[in-house]
Amino acid sequence: MQIKFYNTLTRTKEEFVPINKDLVTLYSCGPTVYKDATIGNMRTNIFMDTLRRTLKYNGYKLKHVMNITDVGHLVSDADEGEDKMIKSAKEQGKTPLEIAEYYTKLFMKDLDRLNIDLPEIICKATDNIKEMIEYVEELVKNGYAYETSTAIYFDVSKLDRYGVLSGINLNDQKAGARVDIDEEKKNPYDFALWIKAPENHLMKWESPWGLSYPGWHIECSTMGKKYLGEQFDIHTGGVDLIPTHHENEIAQSKGCTGKIPARYWMHGEFLLINGGKMSKSLNNVYLVEDIIKKGYSPLAYKLFCFTSHYRNKLNFTWEGIDAADKSLTKLREAYAKHNEGNDLIEKEEIENYKEKFLSAINDDLNMPVAMSVVWEVAKNTKKSKQLAELLLDFDKVLGLKIDEKIEESAEEIPTEIAELLEQRNVARANKDWTESDRLRDLIKEKGYIVKDSKEGATIEKI
Ligand code: AMP
Ligand code: ZN
Repeated sequence: MQIKFYNTLTRTKEEFVPINKDLVTLYSCGPTVYKDATIGNMRTNIFMDTLRRTLKYNGYKLKHVMNITDVGHLVSDADEGEDKMIKSAKEQGKTPLEIAEYYTKLFMKDLDRLNIDLPEIICKATDNIKEMIEYVEELVKNGYAYETSTAIYFDVSKLDRYGVLSGINLNDQKAGARVDIDEEKKNPYDFALWIKAPENHLMKWESPWGLSYPGWHIECSTMGKKYLGEQFDIHTGGVDLIPTHHENEIAQSKGCTGKIPARYWMHGEFLLINGGKMSKSLNNVYLVEDIIKKGYSPLAYKLFCFTSHYRNKLNFTWEGIDAADKSLTKLREAYAKHNEGNDLIEKEEIENYKEKFLSAINDDLNMPVAMSVVWEVAKNTKKSKQLAELLLDFDKVLGLKIDEKIEESAEEIPTEIAELLEQRNVARANKDWTESDRLRDLIKEKGYIVKDSKEGATIEKI
């Protein structure tokens, strides 16, 4: 069956035809490992997972690369401010390497908790410094880069067109609000490929330009080319990457190979909280860990994400997670019910379900429609092993572990207990040990025990 994906590059839903007949090549921008990955970050990874699983369901083999940004990436996308990795290292009294290792581990743990199918190649920026330097040298040689006293910049005016992905018009740039910190930059949209390190900078490498370190965008162009070649099929990321990071990746590739690196550019929309952004100042940044602490299965969050198309914004609420968790249990119960049944289902009915499911996922990963087919099967009044098998087949795309025994699912912790635990976490953060102990005892009185570990507090029924 034909697969259609929305391509940000052409702004249309297009038939997907890979470069190689059986093997799809993909690149996904991975995390910058200097802080916890939020459930927002994880929405983008769930989108990536659904894409992988859909392609596999259609019979394709995959070669998929995801990078781990463990160096650089300045606080602002406009090459300004402090290095995020180094800032976090200083704040936590650790080395940048320790920070990167710690958050990479947590990120991988979350991918596992969400049953996310892993890319074939996961590569770190710091393992590819030599290749990045060679890439920048190539850009200098081809006349697309120039050196200033602080960095090597990409010269966007050398391209036939900069801004193909986001439709930026360079003529409007003078009216833009960007402030150039480097007066040696030739054009406001020029971006740093390579940055000369100030003397006390922690992460730096020998290069033809002295001790220095990579800009953010160069790593993806370098690793994409190294592992997938000059052109591959699909490039993914969150929508926030369109106007800067992906635009700059395209610019670099055009300067190096003359080609746009990927043929299909797919972007996941944001997860919102109360209709707005997640932010520390609003105290509404949630992690997968928080979902688990409230007693929900992390896969309930995945199911929650399927309530909206990946290209639409999705508003997170705890009520939504509560409902999704109940739905996950119902789905597993339905699977178990069918698995015990002996009713016979016409082959035609099964084929009909299969076709509806496949046409939904192949229509630009339309998960809300795909889930409506899943529910039709689950709620079928007959009890049939054929339907259980069909649900398991659909689960290859969903990754919800619907055959997991219900008693093995995360035990439900009452909201009251979860709230007391949260209050205790706040007390501990404020070093208010008296209040923390009081809350622990109160939780115990109500039949639950708090277990503290390095990774935070969890709760168990006594
Ligand atoms: P950040 O932690 O802001 O560097 O984000 C890493 C990547 O996760 C971003 O580039 C986005 O593509 C994605 N991302 C961040 N926040 C959200 C969100 N609220 N919803 C969906 N994706 C997000
Ligand atoms: Zn990237």
